[in-house]
Amino acid sequence: MCPAEKFRAPKGMRDVLPPDIYIWQKLEKTAFEVLSRYGFREMRTPVVESTALFSRGIGEATDIVEKEMYTFEDKGGRSLTLRPEGTASAVRCYVENQLYNLPSPQKYYYWGPMFRYERPQAGRYRQFYQLGVEAFGSDSPALDAELLSMLRHFLLKSGLEGLNFQINSIGCRACRPDFIKALLEYLGAGLEGLCADCRRRYSANPLRILDCKASGCQELRKGAPRVTDHLCDGCHDHFDKFQHYLKLLDVPFSLNHEMVRGLDYYTRTTFEVTSENLGAQNAVTAGGRYDGLVREFGGPDTPAFGFAVGMERLVELLRQAPGQDVPRPGIFIAVIGERAHSEALLTAEVLRADGSWVEVGEHTASLKNQLRKADRLSAEYVFIIGDEELDAGSIKWKRLSDSASGSLPAAGVRSFLSGRR
Ligand code: ATP
Ligand code: MG
Repeated sequence: MCPAEKFRAPKGMRDVLPPDIYIWQKLEKTAFEVLSRYGFREMRTPVVESTALFSRGIGEATDIVEKEMYTFEDKGGRSLTLRPEGTASAVRCYVENQLYNLPSPQKYYYWGPMFRYERPQAGRYRQFYQLGVEAFGSDSPALDAELLSMLRHFLLKSGLEGLNFQINSIGCRACRPDFIKALLEYLGAGLEGLCADCRRRYSANPLRILDCKASGCQELRKGAPRVTDHLCDGCHDHFDKFQHYLKLLDVPFSLNHEMVRGLDYYTRTTFEVTSENLGAQNAVTAGGRYDGLVREFGGPDTPAFGFAVGMERLVELLRQAPGQDVPRPGIFIAVIGERAHSEALLTAEVLRADGSWVEVGEHTASLKNQLRKADRLSAEYVFIIGDEELDAGSIKWKRLSDSASGSLPAAGVRSFLSGRR
């Protein structure tokens, strides 16, 4: 026989257990509540898609496509990829299901795991969760601002404060070439000062040089042309109005001329939300406009705006926040004897139907052990039922927080509990 093997979760992938899971669930609930008020409905797409969807959508010369995708061939010889992000899938779904025939804007959110073969570190995993939001069919800067306001409300309602909204515009197909030309001219003079990645990006994806973290590249960028100085009239006006609406909706923001985002599909508005309490991986949300992608995927010309929230990083922030609620049982019923055990099982069902979390002890355990268990579970109340109580038709109760105690008629447990707060 082979020796027993101990398995571990794949590198960079994690289990989520209580108490963290309560933070996750609260975030999911809050997201649903806030997003639905803005007309967002859920879209569920497969976690794998054809590889070409991502290489076309995200762009060949991006970190994700060059280095980070989990790609495999299925038994039918198709090249499939575990989704590294959600926008390409959402656009594929929008086009495939002809959602453009429905009234605009069509607003969807999704929630689920994404996969990127990255170097695992705090805040960076190989399987991570994103809450993604995509709105199709409006090019209005008011929509961009409205969705940032929605994001802000979601973050605030989740208990997250101290987040910085940074915005930029990276222009459109008409004006970006002019900016790229100016950028290449500027950087061309100091090419050898760029890191190896950026020297490659210089010809493949020069915009990305603007957000490279290497110190040489940062140094060289000082004095580089700004994309917002090269916007065409349409993009300029869009960016101005976007800021106007942000102010109207009371969304605090700052301009970041170097924020360009790592995916090729963006046009005009780009933004990131960062936290000061997260160390190196400090971006909790990123997104922007992608007015050309629906068309590129075979749909009609459809402007769109979206963003993705990195859930692990929000959970990390909330773990640092005081006062996280951990659910605990409302009642632990300790039992003495088999007859009492049966009665407790029935009583527990009644109380659960009313919405309480109820745990029932086992008559094979001593009362002392049952009470210790109730304590470890932090139950709010302990009920005790034994032969004496059964004969008298009563239940003994004890509140663990202050040791208050008493007894109540068995038939009155529901009203006792409904009046307990
Ligand atoms: P980063 O600059 O942190 O690599 P990114 O530009 O790759 O982010 P997006 O692809 O736009 O980010 O993803 C949106 C959000 O998803 C990020 O702001 C971040 O919160 C989260 N995220 C991205 N990659 C990871 C990862 N590997 N692990 C955990 N969260 C991630
Ligand atoms: Mg990344």
